[in-house]
Amino acid sequence: MLVNMKDLLNVAQQNNFAVGAYNIGSAELLKVALEECEKNNSPIILAIHPDELEYLTDEFVEYIKTRATNSKVPVVLHMDHGSNKNQILRAIKCGFTSVMIDGSHLDFEDNVKLTKEIVDIAKPLNISVEAELGTIGNLGNSAEGGASEIIYTDPKKAKELVERTGVDTLAVAIGTSHGLYPKWMKPELNLELLKEIKNEINIPLVLHGGSANPDNEIEEAVQLGVCKVNISSDIKNAFFQKTREVLRNNEAALEPLLIFPEAIEEGKKVVKHKLGLFNCLGKADLYNNI
Ligand SMILES: [Zn+2]
Repeated sequence: MLVNMKDLLNVAQQNNFAVGAYNIGSAELLKVALEECEKNNSPIILAIHPDELEYLTDEFVEYIKTRATNSKVPVVLHMDHGSNKNQILRAIKCGFTSVMIDGSHLDFEDNVKLTKEIVDIAKPLNISVEAELGTIGNLGNSAEGGASEIIYTDPKKAKELVERTGVDTLAVAIGTSHGLYPKWMKPELNLELLKEIKNEINIPLVLHGGSANPDNEIEEAVQLGVCKVNISSDIKNAFFQKTREVLRNNEAALEPLLIFPEAIEEGKKVVKHKLGLFNCLGKADLYNNI
């Protein structure tokens, strides 16, 4: 079933688990995420970045909506990192049930203004809105973008932004980056800051750039109130490593249905592992009443 983010994450917040948001830039990556969540009876957020939407096309979103509506698990169709009103309007027209407006690169007042404008458009349509405050780093190998330097979320400013805009969820910057970390770099989350932010605001918190962070930190972040974790690079990495291997071992390979299944299985292993960290296994049962 297709649901909005607010309804999805209210249940997660009450029951102390997080839902993964998986970037699905191709039909294969959609299969990876959705089939594995269905197999494990777990709710799911299908994240599509504006660049990914441009590649997939609006018509392909029609297929995704049909697939989501017929699914036995709750599915949110979410625009990831919308940066302007036109991108958000396109998502709304396509039938997304949730949008992110990322004004984190703007100064505070402009971020509030842009976010509020989007909330005023989306809320009456029952579409959820995610905002971002502080900046998430960018390791240079990810389509989701980000800043070259991480600016941590200020808890008091977070409270003010939530109160003034009425957003449903907030992406916080507590030390993650988009993309994969180079071997020499050790990602570390500032969990004390997460606690401080949690003390200030009640809406579900979102962690972007959740790939390659230590498992125990992700688990702890979920226990401390993170209800949505964006996962992109970890899955793509597993998927394309395997794709390369398959193509190397059979240079004459031509058929997608022979090339991709092994790569899809590798991606699914990552999803399964993350579902465990998010305490999300079997949680679709909690949504029988919505
Ligand atoms: Zn992100």
